[in-house]
Amino acid sequence: MNHAQKAEIFNKNEAKVNWHDKALWYVREKRDNAAHGVKGWEQLRDLASGIKAHVLSNLDELLIEFETNAQKNGITVHWASNAEEHNKIINTILTEKNAKKVVKSKSMLTEECHLNPYLESKGFEVVDTDLGEYIVQIAKETPSHIVLPAIHKTKEEVDTLFQEHLGTKPSNGNPEYLTNEARKHLRTKFLTADVAITGVNFAIAETGGFVVCTNEGNADMGAHLAKTHIACMGIEKLIPKEAHLGVFLRLLARSATGQPITTYSSHFNKPSEGSEMHIVIVDNGRTEQLSREDFRSSLHCIRCGACMNTCPIYRRSGGHSYDATIPGPIGSILSPGKDLTKHSSLPFASTLCGSCSNVCPVKINIHEQLYKWRQIITKDIEQPVVKKTILKMTGKVFSKPKFYGLAGRSVRFMLKYAPRFLVYSKLNAWGKARELPQIKNGNFDQWYKEKRSK
Ligand code: SF4
Repeated sequence: MNHAQKAEIFNKNEAKVNWHDKALWYVREKRDNAAHGVKGWEQLRDLASGIKAHVLSNLDELLIEFETNAQKNGITVHWASNAEEHNKIINTILTEKNAKKVVKSKSMLTEECHLNPYLESKGFEVVDTDLGEYIVQIAKETPSHIVLPAIHKTKEEVDTLFQEHLGTKPSNGNPEYLTNEARKHLRTKFLTADVAITGVNFAIAETGGFVVCTNEGNADMGAHLAKTHIACMGIEKLIPKEAHLGVFLRLLARSATGQPITTYSSHFNKPSEGSEMHIVIVDNGRTEQLSREDFRSSLHCIRCGACMNTCPIYRRSGGHSYDATIPGPIGSILSPGKDLTKHSSLPFASTLCGSCSNVCPVKINIHEQLYKWRQIITKDIEQPVVKKTILKMTGKVFSKPKFYGLAGRSVRFMLKYAPRFLVYSKLNAWGKARELPQIKNGNFDQWYKEKRSK
């Protein structure tokens, strides 16, 4: 199924769509307030974008610098060219440690590599400890948002889920009660885990250390209690110097949730006495994306989710409609790079309004890159005949003012006088979920000429 077909499933529950839309817009507004409260916000965005561009241009050297410094600190560094290698490396570490139980804090990279099902198939118990991730894990679903993984679920749905899986009492979706129950359950998991896996928000070449940002402190809890900590990072997570952290930490939390800073920004530099620390550095298609000049800056992404919260399509189609680990506008740039045929509908899931580019803290020209993918896709991937024909005709009409005027007059006439069943037929996808506005007499051209003559 393509994006539109999946979105149609989400759209069946109108109340939920409205709620999803509103909830994400609320986060977008919080982001705006937080951003407006910082003097020099735009300069910070410029700086972040510049630092990331510098990283991508010097990635080879910075990665080696990071590896050298991490090793000096006593961290074991592993390299994985793809998801398979990443999973195998983790399996080997777990097997060597004779581990049985793993706690994981939120990491989109491990989602991308499908680490959980892989480890479960090898007999390990893997528990996601971020509350949203935990909810989707027990629901046997995937995250629908990179910062708010269970945003597609109402609190009442979580209540029912917890009753089934954790034996909780019905609470009418009381968030405090449900959070406490999850906390109790997860605490045992933390205390008995052999290995903790975390993601990496920023890896610092200068120091060989890395930073993990969470709001729940679950990364710290896991990494401090287990004897072995494995951190997984994509090659683009690097920043050159510790001093650059201030730029990104200021931007990340404000753009993600409107908070001035994430509750925990934990710095990991070396293993504690008697423990082990491993870092798995993963490519998995990133070098290929780096080689595509038009899409290179998509690797600046710091995974704040702001482009999702603002996107009118994402808010009303839900994250699962993208059928990809990273949904929303940035996902629609990254996914076609991995599998153009499978994800060819994603760059079209956009109004190209540019709101995503406006909120992006690292200034990725998201809507322009979506437009670029569209050009490639229409050239390289066979499009449905109806779509191709309509676009061809539209191109002809739009390029000739006379045709355009005639078409405008005919459509206005049709919309005014044609019977409803014709206007709202199957051919009119727009009319499926909305009433068209009242048609006025005349067109913009006439209106403009009249105004100018006054
Ligand atoms: S593309 Fe920009 S706005 Fe979207 S998640 Fe990445 S950093 Fe955030």
